[in-house]
Amino acid sequence: MENPYAPPKEIDDVVVSNKDETQQNVLSREGNLIVCPDNATWPDRCAVCNAPVSGPKLTRRFFWHPSWIYLLFLVSWLIYLIVALIVRKKGTVHISVCEEHRKRRTAGILIASLGTALSLILLIAGAVMSDSNGAVAGAMVLLGIVGIILCLVLGLVMAKTVAPMKIVDGILWVRAGKAFTDSI
Ligand SMILES: [Zn+2]
Repeated sequence: MENPYAPPKEIDDVVVSNKDETQQNVLSREGNLIVCPDNATWPDRCAVCNAPVSGPKLTRRFFWHPSWIYLLFLVSWLIYLIVALIVRKKGTVHISVCEEHRKRRTAGILIASLGTALSLILLIAGAVMSDSNGAVAGAMVLLGIVGIILCLVLGLVMAKTVAPMKIVDGILWVRAGKAFTDSI
Protein backbone atom coordinates (compact mmCIF):
# COMPACT_ATOMS: atom_id res chain seq x y z
CA MET A 1 0.00 0.00 0.00
CA GLU A 2 1.23 3.50 -0.81
CA ASN A 3 1.48 5.84 2.13
CA PRO A 4 -1.19 8.55 1.59
CA TYR A 5 0.71 10.91 3.91
CA ALA A 6 3.92 10.69 1.93
CA PRO A 7 5.28 14.09 0.80
CA PRO A 8 4.51 14.96 -2.84
CA LYS A 9 7.10 13.92 -5.39
CA GLU A 10 9.16 16.63 -7.00
CA ILE A 11 7.30 16.92 -10.23
CA ASP A 12 9.79 19.31 -11.88
CA ASP A 13 12.63 16.82 -11.48
CA VAL A 14 10.51 14.04 -12.97
CA VAL A 15 9.66 16.15 -16.02
CA VAL A 16 13.28 17.09 -16.62
CA SER A 17 14.55 13.53 -16.33
CA ASN A 18 11.72 12.25 -18.54
CA LYS A 19 12.66 14.71 -21.27
CA ASP A 20 16.25 13.53 -21.08
CA GLU A 21 15.14 9.90 -21.21
CA THR A 22 12.96 10.41 -24.30
CA GLN A 23 16.00 11.79 -26.09
CA GLN A 24 18.21 8.97 -24.92
CA ASN A 25 15.66 6.18 -25.37
CA VAL A 26 15.24 6.62 -29.11
CA LEU A 27 18.88 5.65 -29.53
CA SER A 28 20.20 2.14 -28.98
CA ARG A 29 23.40 0.43 -29.90
CA GLU A 30 24.01 -2.59 -32.13
CA GLY A 31 27.69 -3.51 -32.38
CA ASN A 32 29.55 -0.40 -33.56
CA LEU A 33 26.39 1.26 -34.85
CA ILE A 34 23.72 3.52 -33.41
CA VAL A 35 20.16 2.40 -34.13
CA CYS A 36 17.40 5.03 -34.12
CA PRO A 37 14.06 5.79 -35.77
CA ASP A 38 13.90 8.16 -38.74
CA ASN A 39 13.87 11.84 -37.78
CA ALA A 40 15.31 11.10 -34.32
CA THR A 41 16.85 13.93 -32.30
CA TRP A 42 20.12 12.77 -30.82
CA PRO A 43 21.30 13.81 -27.33
CA ASP A 44 23.10 17.14 -26.71
CA ARG A 45 26.52 15.54 -27.06
CA CYS A 46 28.86 15.71 -30.07
CA ALA A 47 28.13 12.72 -32.33
CA VAL A 48 31.88 12.51 -33.08
CA CYS A 49 33.71 13.10 -29.76
CA ASN A 50 30.85 12.99 -27.19
CA ALA A 51 31.63 16.48 -25.77
CA PRO A 52 28.58 18.32 -24.36
CA VAL A 53 26.97 20.63 -26.94
CA SER A 54 24.44 23.40 -26.23
CA GLY A 55 24.10 24.87 -29.75
CA PRO A 56 21.55 24.06 -32.47
CA LYS A 57 21.25 20.60 -34.01
CA LEU A 58 22.77 19.65 -37.34
CA THR A 59 20.27 17.93 -39.63
CA ARG A 60 21.79 15.13 -41.72
CA ARG A 61 19.75 13.64 -44.57
CA PHE A 62 20.77 10.24 -45.85
CA PHE A 63 20.13 8.05 -48.84
CA TRP A 64 20.94 4.38 -48.57
CA HIS A 65 20.50 1.26 -50.70
CA PRO A 66 21.70 -2.36 -50.23
CA SER A 67 25.31 -2.78 -51.39
CA TRP A 68 24.44 -5.52 -53.94
CA ILE A 69 22.87 -2.77 -56.05
CA TYR A 70 26.44 -1.61 -56.83
CA LEU A 71 26.89 -4.85 -58.81
CA LEU A 72 24.52 -3.40 -61.40
CA PHE A 73 27.31 -0.95 -62.22
CA LEU A 74 29.01 -3.90 -63.94
CA VAL A 75 25.99 -4.24 -66.22
CA SER A 76 25.37 -0.56 -66.91
CA TRP A 77 25.68 2.65 -64.92
CA LEU A 78 22.28 3.74 -66.23
CA ILE A 79 20.54 0.57 -64.95
CA TYR A 80 22.36 1.03 -61.63
CA LEU A 81 21.18 4.65 -61.42
CA ILE A 82 17.55 3.79 -62.18
CA VAL A 83 17.39 0.85 -59.73
CA ALA A 84 19.26 2.81 -57.04
CA LEU A 85 16.81 5.72 -57.37
CA ILE A 86 13.87 3.32 -57.05
CA VAL A 87 15.05 1.21 -54.10
CA ARG A 88 16.97 3.84 -52.11
CA LYS A 89 15.69 4.68 -48.65
CA LYS A 90 15.72 8.14 -47.12
CA GLY A 91 16.48 8.94 -43.51
CA THR A 92 17.08 12.02 -41.38
CA VAL A 93 18.78 12.49 -38.01
CA HIS A 94 19.25 15.65 -35.96
CA ILE A 95 22.67 15.40 -34.33
CA SER A 96 24.78 17.61 -32.11
CA VAL A 97 28.29 18.50 -33.25
CA CYS A 98 30.78 20.42 -31.07
CA GLU A 99 32.44 23.64 -32.24
CA GLU A 100 35.69 21.91 -33.18
CA HIS A 101 34.02 19.21 -35.31
CA ARG A 102 31.62 21.73 -36.85
CA LYS A 103 34.65 23.79 -38.02
CA ARG A 104 36.38 20.65 -39.30
CA ARG A 105 33.22 19.74 -41.24
CA THR A 106 32.99 23.23 -42.81
CA ALA A 107 36.70 23.08 -43.79
CA GLY A 108 36.17 19.61 -45.28
CA ILE A 109 33.22 20.79 -47.38
CA LEU A 110 35.32 23.76 -48.61
CA ILE A 111 38.27 21.52 -49.54
CA ALA A 112 36.01 18.99 -51.29
CA SER A 113 34.23 21.69 -53.33
CA LEU A 114 36.63 24.61 -53.82
CA GLY A 115 39.83 22.51 -53.84
CA THR A 116 38.38 20.08 -56.36
CA ALA A 117 37.13 22.95 -58.57
CA LEU A 118 40.57 24.65 -58.57
CA SER A 119 42.29 21.33 -59.39
CA LEU A 120 39.84 20.83 -62.25
CA ILE A 121 40.65 24.32 -63.62
CA LEU A 122 44.38 23.44 -63.44
CA LEU A 123 43.72 20.19 -65.31
CA ILE A 124 41.69 21.90 -68.05
CA ALA A 125 44.25 24.74 -68.38
CA GLY A 126 47.01 22.13 -68.74
CA ALA A 127 45.05 20.26 -71.41
CA VAL A 128 44.42 23.51 -73.33
CA MET A 129 48.13 24.47 -73.13
CA SER A 130 49.42 21.05 -74.19
CA ASP A 131 50.14 22.20 -77.80
CA SER A 132 52.32 25.19 -76.87
CA ASN A 133 54.27 23.93 -73.83
CA GLY A 134 54.19 20.14 -73.42
CA ALA A 135 56.24 19.71 -70.21
CA VAL A 136 54.50 22.42 -68.18
CA ALA A 137 51.09 21.36 -69.51
CA GLY A 138 51.77 17.71 -68.57
CA ALA A 139 52.72 18.73 -65.03
CA MET A 140 49.57 20.84 -64.70
CA VAL A 141 47.35 17.97 -65.84
CA LEU A 142 49.05 15.57 -63.41
CA LEU A 143 48.80 18.07 -60.54
CA GLY A 144 45.16 18.63 -61.41
CA ILE A 145 44.33 14.89 -61.28
CA VAL A 146 46.24 14.37 -58.01
CA GLY A 147 44.61 17.51 -56.59
CA ILE A 148 41.08 16.31 -57.40
CA ILE A 149 41.64 12.92 -55.76
CA LEU A 150 43.39 14.41 -52.68
CA CYS A 151 40.81 17.18 -52.16
CA LEU A 152 37.88 14.77 -52.53
CA VAL A 153 39.30 12.16 -50.13
CA LEU A 154 40.61 14.65 -47.55
CA GLY A 155 37.52 16.85 -47.78
CA LEU A 156 35.07 13.97 -47.37
CA VAL A 157 37.03 12.47 -44.45
CA MET A 158 37.11 15.87 -42.70
CA ALA A 159 33.45 16.62 -43.41
CA LYS A 160 32.25 13.25 -42.10
CA THR A 161 30.21 13.27 -38.91
CA VAL A 162 27.83 10.31 -39.04
CA ALA A 163 27.11 7.94 -41.94
CA PRO A 164 24.20 5.60 -42.69
CA MET A 165 25.00 1.88 -42.87
CA LYS A 166 21.45 0.61 -43.29
CA ILE A 167 17.92 2.04 -43.49
CA VAL A 168 15.01 -0.42 -43.25
CA ASP A 169 11.34 0.39 -42.48
CA GLY A 170 12.07 3.79 -40.99
CA ILE A 171 14.88 2.51 -38.75
CA LEU A 172 18.42 3.80 -39.28
CA TRP A 173 21.71 2.08 -38.50
CA VAL A 174 24.26 4.88 -38.28
CA ARG A 175 28.02 4.94 -37.78
CA ALA A 176 29.00 7.75 -35.37
CA GLY A 177 32.17 8.61 -33.45
CA LYS A 178 33.53 5.87 -31.17
CA ALA A 179 33.34 8.00 -28.00
CA PHE A 180 29.69 8.82 -28.70
CA THR A 181 28.79 5.23 -29.65
CA ASP A 182 30.43 3.91 -26.45
CA SER A 183 28.21 6.25 -24.38
CA ILE A 184 24.97 4.72 -25.72
ZN1 LIG B 1 33.22 16.90 -31.25
